[in-house]
Amino acid sequence: MAKNHPEMTLKAIGTVRNEITNPKRDGWREVISEIEIDAGLSPALDGIEDFSHITVLFWMNRLEDRELALKIHPRGEVKLPVVGLFATRSPYRPNPIGKTTVRLLERLGNILTVQGLDAVSGSPVIDIKPYIPQDDSISSALVPGWITRFHDMRRKLEDVYRRLLAVYGPQHWWPAEGTFEMMVGAILTQSAAWKNVEKALDGLKKAKALSPEALRKLSLNELAEIIRPSGYFNAKALKLKALAEWLGDAYNDDLCRMLSGGTMALREELLGVHGIGPETADSILLYAAGKPVFVIDAYTRRIIDRLGLAPRDHDYTDYQALFMDNLPADSGTFNEYHALLVCLGKNVCRPKPLCADCCLNEICPSRA
Ligand code: SF4
Repeated sequence: MAKNHPEMTLKAIGTVRNEITNPKRDGWREVISEIEIDAGLSPALDGIEDFSHITVLFWMNRLEDRELALKIHPRGEVKLPVVGLFATRSPYRPNPIGKTTVRLLERLGNILTVQGLDAVSGSPVIDIKPYIPQDDSISSALVPGWITRFHDMRRKLEDVYRRLLAVYGPQHWWPAEGTFEMMVGAILTQSAAWKNVEKALDGLKKAKALSPEALRKLSLNELAEIIRPSGYFNAKALKLKALAEWLGDAYNDDLCRMLSGGTMALREELLGVHGIGPETADSILLYAAGKPVFVIDAYTRRIIDRLGLAPRDHDYTDYQALFMDNLPADSGTFNEYHALLVCLGKNVCRPKPLCADCCLNEICPSRA
């Protein structure tokens, strides 16, 4: 920074306490935090309880060390245009000061309870100000087009999700009794109806073959015979064998260790296993490892295309980016959203769609 500007010393007035110990990008809306203000400053809070919202300034002291970049893609999204750092809200700034307007739930003495503060536990608080709509809300404010497009797509995707959830409710995916069963099911379900996958899984259970070690001991023919109901049984037997071999070689069958790896590294590993493509790898990452990865399948593509939200390129990664670039990275939401799309695709938005019965027909340009 230029040397002719003064250096300043700040003294924290309080500390944030919540359950969040590591910085994250999204998923703060429901987080409840307590801000413990220095007891000596407690009288300065008098009257704050009459405001529904306050603006909190805090020091982001838990960010990783990074070289300061003056030009960046907002949110790290390469699809968004490169702009100057000060045209973004990136936390990696010359002074890592966070500023967030939050809902004030309660003031008890020198403790403020707030909702939606995106600060990890232990963050020093620099200042508190009341949010005054008459002063702080500017109805004529203009923003660049990329912000409008970003929020517009997010709003549309959230609207689709809300409508599906309201009609179909939680889907409780993935239907499996354990991690390995889930992984096996993800392979068996390729080009197969789930009821036939269940028959194949039942066969594996009866044969006590639902473990990597047991699968390795079966001959290829024995395994193919057991999973015959799922279709393509010879090819799937080879794939299951490859999965079991990989788990043994790479992880000594320790599934917890396998699932605890970094998302992208584990994805690369899974894609290197015979028979595991992007959809199966992402299903395992999402439903077995709980990683925030969106699964794209034929139902999702069809519905997104018909809703007029299809990406310019029709690759798997482009459909995936549509969700992952525009929605908060939350594995619970991704889990439910994908399961709901499958439900709609199977029952209503079929190859010949039943638009009259569809909960999305008000917002769908393709409705018949
Ligand atoms: S309105 Fe019709 S085309 Fe559109 S999502 Fe629903 S079923 Fe599919």
